[in-house]
Amino acid sequence: MKMITKKKFLVALTAGFIFVSCSSDEETLSGTESDLNAVSATASINSIPQNIEGNLSWNLPGKTSHEFKNNFNVVVPSECGDTPFRSVISFYNNALIGGFLGSWDGNPDAIGVILDDYFIINQIAAFDNINTDTFGANGEYTHYVKNRVRSLEKFWDMPNLISVRGQHTSTLEDLNVLRYVYENYSSAPPEVIDYLLGIAENFNTTSDQIPENPLYASDGFATFGGIIVVGDGIVSMLAETGLDAKVVWSGILAHEWGHQIQFQNFGNWEYPVPAFNNTPESTRMTELEADFLTAYYLTHKRGGTYNWKRVEDVLASFFNIGDCGFESPGHHGTPNQRLEAARQGYLFASNQKKKGQIATAQSVHDAFLSKLDGIVGGSDAADNAGNLH
Ligand SMILES: [Zn+2]
Repeated sequence: MKMITKKKFLVALTAGFIFVSCSSDEETLSGTESDLNAVSATASINSIPQNIEGNLSWNLPGKTSHEFKNNFNVVVPSECGDTPFRSVISFYNNALIGGFLGSWDGNPDAIGVILDDYFIINQIAAFDNINTDTFGANGEYTHYVKNRVRSLEKFWDMPNLISVRGQHTSTLEDLNVLRYVYENYSSAPPEVIDYLLGIAENFNTTSDQIPENPLYASDGFATFGGIIVVGDGIVSMLAETGLDAKVVWSGILAHEWGHQIQFQNFGNWEYPVPAFNNTPESTRMTELEADFLTAYYLTHKRGGTYNWKRVEDVLASFFNIGDCGFESPGHHGTPNQRLEAARQGYLFASNQKKKGQIATAQSVHDAFLSKLDGIVGGSDAADNAGNLH
């Protein structure tokens, strides 16, 4: 699918940064070691024109589930509380802006290429299976991820159905990849593509952001058609907050795999509201189910074999990343709802463990539905308990 639209720079600046579902929060500049960069980036970003358009816009073909989408804007202070992950994101965001400004010759077209197109190019490259066979910036998790995928295939009885693709910032070093994407996903004529590639080459050779900045590989999503994309950057940034990178890989893969199970059963599984119809209730339901499936797999003794505490710590970090910006409280489920869904998945696995059984996906689905009201209602009460109203 090719879809070309234009958008404004402020939108573009926020659109490519991927992590945390559908939050509208903006990045705070408070933090730890990122403060030094934040000050200069905040001061000088005002010199960047705010109405520059990128050259690409892309909607994933088919029904999709974007998992870890983060919207933030370095300019506007946020009401969000700080978290370790926000500090990491802020650090790399400011490094990116600083690196861009440091290598910028003032050409306004560079803004659209570097701060917008680059993110879309790397999404498209991963989706189109370019440079996706390894995991980790240096391939250091390739073996681990491939074993994890085999485990998921076996556990859910889904052999060779899902293509798991790594996303790497180093892909952006290859101007042939950039050329391929512009040629196939933009309406730019050849001479304009050459011009855009010149901008890219300048940035790649004069800034210190490619391949270093993990934000350019921070996608995590599943799509109809059996594709899962996980970027090195999202894992490494979470690991920087103190989480075990392998558990992070496993958690993201198990969650995206949960969506693939839902896609596989789309049209057959019954739900209280239609699945994947883009309403808050629908999205919350399918997300909570993916969380239930995640914890079921991760804690099952024939699955991930993790103990609950280890899983809980990592999932709690996932769920808390984007909480403060949710304008629609029910959209993806509150952190408490998501953690409760995961805990119920763990309890379901725990009961089965004694018999050493792996439930069918249908049975896990049924178990989730039987708990859904409690997950949503119970945690709503918990969420409201601390509020002053
Ligand atoms: Zn999800």
